[in-house]
Amino acid sequence: MLGRYAELKAQLPPETILFYQVGTFFETFEEDAKKTSQALSIRLTSREAAGEGRVPLAGVPGHSIQEHLATLLRKGHSVAIAEQRPHPVKPKQFTREISQVLTPGTVIEDNVLSAGHANYLAAVVVRDGTAGVAVVEASTGEFTGTEVPEGGVAAELERWSPRELVVPERTMAENLPKIEAKFSPAPRWTFEPSAGEQSLKKHFGVSNLKGFGLEGQPALVGAAGALIQYLGSLRAGTPPEQVVSFRTYSPDAGMVLDSTTRRNLGLEDVISTTDRTRTPMGQRTLRRWLERPLLEVERIEQRLSAVDAFAGDYMLREETRDVLGRIPDIERIATRIVRLSASPNDLLSLKGALEAIGPLKETLNRAAEGSQLLSRVLGAMEEPPGVRELISAAISEEDGEIIRAGYSTELDEAREFRDGAHEWLTRFEAEERLKSGVKTLKVGYRDGEGYFIEVAGKDTGSVPDHYQHRKALKHNARYVTTELKEHESRMLGARDEVDRLERQILAEIRAAVKEAAPDLQRIARAVAVVDVTASFAAAATELRYCRPAVSEERGIHIVAGRHPVVEHNTETPFVPNETEIEGASRLQIITGPNMAGKSVYLRQVALVTLLAQTGSYVPAGSATLGVVDRIFTRVGAEDRLASGESTFMVEMTEAASILNSATERSLVILDEVGRGTSTYDGMSLAWAIAEYLHDDVQALTFFATHYHELTRLADILPGCHNYKASVEEVGGEIVFLHRIEEGAESSSYGVHVAKLAGLPPQVTERAGEILGRLETEGVKDFAG
Ligand code: ADP
Ligand code: MG
Repeated sequence: MLGRYAELKAQLPPETILFYQVGTFFETFEEDAKKTSQALSIRLTSREAAGEGRVPLAGVPGHSIQEHLATLLRKGHSVAIAEQRPHPVKPKQFTREISQVLTPGTVIEDNVLSAGHANYLAAVVVRDGTAGVAVVEASTGEFTGTEVPEGGVAAELERWSPRELVVPERTMAENLPKIEAKFSPAPRWTFEPSAGEQSLKKHFGVSNLKGFGLEGQPALVGAAGALIQYLGSLRAGTPPEQVVSFRTYSPDAGMVLDSTTRRNLGLEDVISTTDRTRTPMGQRTLRRWLERPLLEVERIEQRLSAVDAFAGDYMLREETRDVLGRIPDIERIATRIVRLSASPNDLLSLKGALEAIGPLKETLNRAAEGSQLLSRVLGAMEEPPGVRELISAAISEEDGEIIRAGYSTELDEAREFRDGAHEWLTRFEAEERLKSGVKTLKVGYRDGEGYFIEVAGKDTGSVPDHYQHRKALKHNARYVTTELKEHESRMLGARDEVDRLERQILAEIRAAVKEAAPDLQRIARAVAVVDVTASFAAAATELRYCRPAVSEERGIHIVAGRHPVVEHNTETPFVPNETEIEGASRLQIITGPNMAGKSVYLRQVALVTLLAQTGSYVPAGSATLGVVDRIFTRVGAEDRLASGESTFMVEMTEAASILNSATERSLVILDEVGRGTSTYDGMSLAWAIAEYLHDDVQALTFFATHYHELTRLADILPGCHNYKASVEEVGGEIVFLHRIEEGAESSSYGVHVAKLAGLPPQVTERAGEILGRLETEGVKDFAG
């Protein structure tokens, strides 16, 4: 038996865990068993294998396999299943074939996916210094890609944060992009442009790729084709039919927010604070918009106008959101429909969704006048003809049956026969009781035993001669008759027939609804846009946000700006702050004691900008913003969980990437750069970095620092200004005002902050003394 296991295992990529069905269990062996037992916290045992001694084994029962697979996939493993089937010719023997390969980036099952997150699978191939990056979301059918210079691959992938990345087999480790994902090797030839063209043409059923804008992009054609091939190689070779089209995108169309910046800015918290979406599609789209802000003023304005339409009309907004609340995950249902794995419940929820589209269009009609985006979206909500009617007519909402009575005459007749067979039994029982005179006689049924006549033990003497004895129990006995057995086979036949017809009709309905899948995906996307813009409007009203004025003019002007997350979590009321930065005065050096509000202020400026470019209202009294091409952040070591690497090295690597990639249109946030090294090293580096940003890069830069020496830059560089997070000294105690104002902070108040933290008075007093002497006399011997 392990021979067959080894054969199947050899067909799979080595890291794929194979679950091999043995009876009602799914077993894993050897290395797989070790991985599985660890990942699932189940027992590792062993079994005897012919000629190999004992091999490790870990298994799970069939009824819980789905749940275990979901856990493994979530943990980043790929899994395959070899199911056992009766051997076609040899009775009582089994064959096993791989029926499914599931990988983290290709799952479409709801129990593995989280509703609010997209689950991307990407492929990358490099040709002549140009990289093709293709991305697919298997559960929604989204399929897109672009070409970038080879060096830009990691940044481009950051945009998508794929769970899994398909790369040409035998790619050297040092040539793999530095991202966190499961790497899946695929045959090299599948990445060839000619092979890519073939598989894309075949998949989409087209004679050329003009319609997809793929001409002259051989690397992208290779990557996209490899993805289609890869998807097709899983699930027993079923092509990924949910993927119905491809569009190229321009890397310039959206801002790149790398994962460090997303983390530094606390984007997750921003999402959870502002998300007011009502549908899973909306939830995923909100996240996508925030992770990829726009760069074109016109598109930003279109979104803002849509938000405006909802923000200005309470009734409209709430009616729209009520209808949205009734719409299930159409996008993922559409995918299951295409894969022909949609359940009757999926079909019913799809019907419910389509029923909600009418009312949604009605309310939207009122909003669309003022908004190009919403009127475009309204146009995309054309319902596919006949789908809803078909589901209503065919799918039953009753428990225990799939197909509605009256839909198919053939099925109705089969059911009638089955139910008639039931009446026959009741009649048979009454007649037998009468004929035999045995009052305790009744007809029963048990799985494995079939139908029988049962009489009480005391009556066994009175049963008719033609009853065949089957079983004696403690208190009664069971018999059958030829007539009953004949009936039984008719009855079971009728049941099977009903099942068979139901399944057949369900398959026909799925196939019919499948035709509408592209329409359903289109509707799902339109619903998502409505949901996100209405969510932005709801958050804006609830959280008192304003519509930003967005332009091409370089500069950020914010009146009474707030931090979208911190404003809800401060002990004292949040203090709003003003921001003024532009080309001519482009570098702000911000000093002030610890805990005074510098980091919050920096992030607040970045987040207001980011929200505005997403098309959202912003937490401010008013805001006028020039579009920035990228937001760079570098946050000091102490503000971050230390990773394994040397913090100074991490810091300098990040600083290098900012200095090399930022432009005069970028927004740069530097928070305590230079901390990870000695004071003089750190200060000199901070100084040089600030100078370079001001003179050469000319980006809009906010630089918070505890190096007071940096405030001297303002005297030297024309575009540099000093700001401070202000504090008040009241009777020797300091009070943080959290107000950012012009000027340089002369004292670091470090000793005061230490006192607040509860250091013994003896220590803080002595420190105060040393500080005083340091300031007047310079470094000396402090003994005595
Ligand atoms: P710094 O970077 O100057 O050391 P932070 O920006 O981390 O200080 O702020 C310290 C704390 O002060 C924050 O956790 C927050 O609770 C509070 N805080 C910051 N800014 C404000 C503000 N504008 N209004 C009210 N509280 C604030
Ligand atoms: Mg700070």
